[in-house]
Amino acid sequence: MKALVVGAGVAGPLTAMALQRAGIEAVVVERHGPPDPKRGSWFSLSPNGLDALQAVGVLDIAKGLGSPTPRNVLVGATGRELGTLPLGSPLADGTPALTIKRPELTAALVDESIRRGIDFRWNAALENVERLEEEVHATLADGTTLTADLLIGADGVHSPTRRIIDPAAPPSRYVGLTNFGGITPGGAALLQGPDAVTEQWRMVFGRRAFFGHHVLPNGDVVWFVNVPEPAIAPEVRARTTDTEWKQRLVALVDGDTGPAPQLIEGGVLELAGDNTHDLGHVPTWHRDRMIIIGDAAHAPAPSSGQGASMAAEDAVVLAQCLRDLPDVDSAFSAYESLRRARVEKVVKTGARSSSTKSPGAFQQLMLRAIFTYAVTPKNTAWMYDHRLHWDERQAAISS
Ligand SMILES: Cc1cc2nc3c(=O)[nH]c(=O)nc-3n(C[C@H](O)[C@H](O)[C@H](O)COP(=O)(O)OP(=O)(O)OC[C@H]3O[C@@H](n4cnc5c(N)ncnc54)[C@H](O)[C@@H]3O)c2cc1C
Repeated sequence: MKALVVGAGVAGPLTAMALQRAGIEAVVVERHGPPDPKRGSWFSLSPNGLDALQAVGVLDIAKGLGSPTPRNVLVGATGRELGTLPLGSPLADGTPALTIKRPELTAALVDESIRRGIDFRWNAALENVERLEEEVHATLADGTTLTADLLIGADGVHSPTRRIIDPAAPPSRYVGLTNFGGITPGGAALLQGPDAVTEQWRMVFGRRAFFGHHVLPNGDVVWFVNVPEPAIAPEVRARTTDTEWKQRLVALVDGDTGPAPQLIEGGVLELAGDNTHDLGHVPTWHRDRMIIIGDAAHAPAPSSGQGASMAAEDAVVLAQCLRDLPDVDSAFSAYESLRRARVEKVVKTGARSSSTKSPGAFQQLMLRAIFTYAVTPKNTAWMYDHRLHWDERQAAISS
């Protein structure tokens, strides 16, 4: 059996490697060129996502690139600690949640896939799909046609495959936050006391913006700023310089507790004016021999810290279903029944945490209660402590 995987982000190379492990050949098409490990921002992989990487045999890659971040510490605008959010139980080998530069992870997963013999086609954008009997014929933007037994759309939150499967599929939703990220080389020297603690993200619910920073083992500091505001238009993004963005961000965090102004002033912007989207309920995930996974099917807001981890889980479970079930239809149905409730719950959780980032005094009181009573290891175990077992056999759903 041969699968065409669309997209070489997080889900694409992982799916190709998981399929290979299941005895299915995969070709990956990506509309851009090979990923540049230097360009882009940082994200967290939580233990459930790392466990999925382990199932594909690439956990060591993430461990080599990642910095341990087993907890988020939440702080109010005046400096009062509102609570600590533990990011799940570590894996059996002790690996906790990791913070990783996203393009470094993607590039390393692609390199590993190529080392395992997987075929990648770069600058190859999927445009359309035609189904002929038991095959799919995919047309790329340059007119090339590729034939496979099935097609997996791992093509992100604005997925073209989603619309090919169902022209009425919902679009992603702007969640009301813009996102900025950067790194301050040697920034640890600027920090003192609780701000200098390693192995955590320290996040401040400021008066006008939400700021988080993490001290890397080499003394550099990575940070992000979320601003509750209308979406930024492409032309505004194009004409605004990094210096202007940084001046604006410094003004937004001015007066809040913590090192945000110094870190932003001394830092290099890696992500500027990104409009944050999520994607909740997509009624149709598969049709004929086509299916969507990862952000293409269900994108939690970045506040959830779960998008990449969900994409990794999807890759493993889909490969298991295709390995264990007698035909593509029953494999897709089993996959959906195993994944839908979990991923939609994660998207809802992400939407809630995005909405708590809108400032206000009442909000700070509420947050203290939430982090004391609601966001506890016991209450979040369903998300972070979820584990997959590659050898576990998946069964057909009973009708
Ligand atoms: C600022 C920010 C912070 C985030 N922080 C976190 C975090 O801390 N933790 C976390 O787990 N997640 C985080 N996420 C979410 C995470 O990045 C995504 O959930 C994850 O990348 C989804 O992987 P994916 O492979 O499904 O999609 P993507 O990584 O978006 O990859 C999709 C790929 O498909 C390609 N593509 C699109 N259209 C076509 C086409 N027509 N033909 C061929 N290729 C195509 C794209 O070029 C892209 O390479 C964050 C996201 C953002 C934006």
